[in-house]
Amino acid sequence: GGFVPGIRPGENTALYIEKIVTKLTTIGALYLTIVCLMPEFLIANYPIPFYLGGTSILIVVVVAIDTVTQIQTRLMSSQYEQLIKKTKFGKWRVNIILFGPPGAGKGTQAQFIVKKHNYFQLSTGNLLREEVKSKTFLGSEIEKLISNGKFVSDETVNTLLRQSITNLKFRDRIIFDGYPRNVQQAKNLESILSEFNQTIGHIIFLNVSRDIIEKRIMGRVTCEKCQMTLNEFFNKGQIELHPCGKEFLNKRKDDNLDIVIARYDTYMSSTKPVLDFYGKNENFTEIDGAGEIEQITGKINDVLTGLRRWL
Ligand code: AMP
Repeated sequence: GGFVPGIRPGENTALYIEKIVTKLTTIGALYLTIVCLMPEFLIANYPIPFYLGGTSILIVVVVAIDTVTQIQTRLMSSQYEQLIKKTKFGKWRVNIILFGPPGAGKGTQAQFIVKKHNYFQLSTGNLLREEVKSKTFLGSEIEKLISNGKFVSDETVNTLLRQSITNLKFRDRIIFDGYPRNVQQAKNLESILSEFNQTIGHIIFLNVSRDIIEKRIMGRVTCEKCQMTLNEFFNKGQIELHPCGKEFLNKRKDDNLDIVIARYDTYMSSTKPVLDFYGKNENFTEIDGAGEIEQITGKINDVLTGLRRWL
């Protein structure tokens, strides 16, 4: 059941291990040859006044290496308890998908999970907007699609996604926000994760009706500094007092009524079928996403605490 991070299990892992072992054996053999030839070389070139044999050098070197190993073992065992604590603490975490229509509050709730449970938010929308900001050719193509409420190609999104999944720092602590958005992406996610010996631990579906979504999206502003999302209809006071300054709160270009309707339609035709893909999964929880932010946060927290108990 073991695996080498970043290497495919099975034949690839076997080849990888064989390569490492061959390297170690070759280096070890070279090292022994040098140690054995060293006395001959010294005696031939320098007037050494005492007997010097290969065996003596070998003994000195082995004793030195052994001493260093002993010291390292001591140091490691003193840190062992801390290591165990960390491992236990991190063990309950699993990758999570936050699923729902645009404006369901996925981003807002993902930020809560990041802060409270030390997760990494993988929002394909944010990754795409970063690409747009970088003003590349690809960025301008992406911008056209986003501002028409259309999906960016699976190929582009998958490439961005792969870059984050391969980062071992985020192993089993990713919260997917805005991905998968169609059945093909759902299948792709499973296969990329299994390549890195990971799985989806839980799927949370935030269910919100279209009229609520319209209100939420039309009023949405996001802070470009801290990524906090507020709403012009519901959070007037918080907007005035926002710690980064309200001049940093921006509206997204794709948050206008026509595009919202287009995005919702795309959700119904392409994204909703993903629910059938996951709906029968036992690790699936549906949450009513229509209430207050804190209320929904509480429900998500209950799900995550439940996971903690189960794992
Ligand atoms: P979001 O921030 O999740 O609302 O995404 C904003 C826009 O980025 C969407 O309307 C799509 O145009 C694009 N987008 C985000 N995630 C994906 C995805 N997984 N597949 C295709 N397009 C995406």
